[in-house]
Amino acid sequence: MTDSTISLNDLPIRDDLRGQEPYGAPQLDVPVRLNTNENPYPPSPRLVAALSEAIADIAGGLNRYPDRDAVELRKDLADYLGNGVTARQVWAANGSNEIIQQILQAFGGPGRTALGFEPSYSMHPIITGVSGTRWINAHRDEDFGLEAERAVAAVEEHRPDIVFLTSPNNPTGTALSLDAIEAVLRVAPGMVVVDEAYAEFRREGTPSALSLLSGNPRLIVTRTMSKAFAMAGTRVGYLAADPAVVDALLLVRLPYHLSAVTQAVARTAIAHQEELLGAVQTLRDERDALVAWLRGEGLTVADSDANFVLFGRFPDRHRVWQGILDRGVLIREVGPPEWLRVSVGTPDEMAAFRTALKESL
Ligand code: PMP
Repeated sequence: MTDSTISLNDLPIRDDLRGQEPYGAPQLDVPVRLNTNENPYPPSPRLVAALSEAIADIAGGLNRYPDRDAVELRKDLADYLGNGVTARQVWAANGSNEIIQQILQAFGGPGRTALGFEPSYSMHPIITGVSGTRWINAHRDEDFGLEAERAVAAVEEHRPDIVFLTSPNNPTGTALSLDAIEAVLRVAPGMVVVDEAYAEFRREGTPSALSLLSGNPRLIVTRTMSKAFAMAGTRVGYLAADPAVVDALLLVRLPYHLSAVTQAVARTAIAHQEELLGAVQTLRDERDALVAWLRGEGLTVADSDANFVLFGRFPDRHRVWQGILDRGVLIREVGPPEWLRVSVGTPDEMAAFRTALKESL
């Protein structure tokens, strides 16, 4: 095949996709990567052996399609979530991005709207747009929190089919109070999605929206194995909601969307949750130390309940980002202007980041 002589704009592509850029955090080959909020601790040799064994166990059956409904995996995820959540209330897909896409396919679409409070996770508006749903951009408070009153006012004004609440929020790290989520549930005319990708990293005393599931059939709580579970490469996200919501998603999912390899690896990871989640407390401590250090350096830092920290403010943030990158540390130029986001890594990685930042200021 020769190089293409046309560009994508020469193709009969959908008008609303014309001129758009693909989503992309740079994937650069640098010594210290603190840009996509992964867990920096790789699986132990013992877990690698268990994962290899799990794949070997199913490899002889790979001529067959996988369990279309991922029943065993959903049972394991329900057990992990606790809060009385059952397998019928859980659905799993290739990353929580695919979960969000399926939610938009089932509850959004042309003529419908989804509302989120920005700054927040940029894939929410992107997936919304690709599904033909109209995105409505509401705003968080000055400190990146979300007062119940402000949230309710936005929902009452726009009456969206889907509301996104991200807690802890990306890229700010801010967790929401249950009061705000309950207030939105009371007034939202459609589905309310609480994106809890970073739930396991919350500080003490910040409850999960899982506790609101019973009695709120239009609430969906999304989670992922990409962050605390240290399985970003596996691509497993999931949700907890009323069983009727799962039934709705069955209408839009592709048959056999979750491969047998993915299901086996995810189940093995859950069986080894003690090891995988063992690093969560270390990462929380490292995060709190990072926030304190950044503040000590005179920088402005958002409170964080996640495994990353948003800090600033830099009139030319690109210069600071580039200076840090030139020293072998990749962080993320994302969020409001003047702010940068750094993921929490190992102690060595954080030491490299602190040195690189100091030299770049
Ligand atoms: N939600 C939020 C808030 C995120 O930050 C991310 C990943 N950056 C995701 C969802 C998607 O993660 P995944 O598809 O790996 O589960």
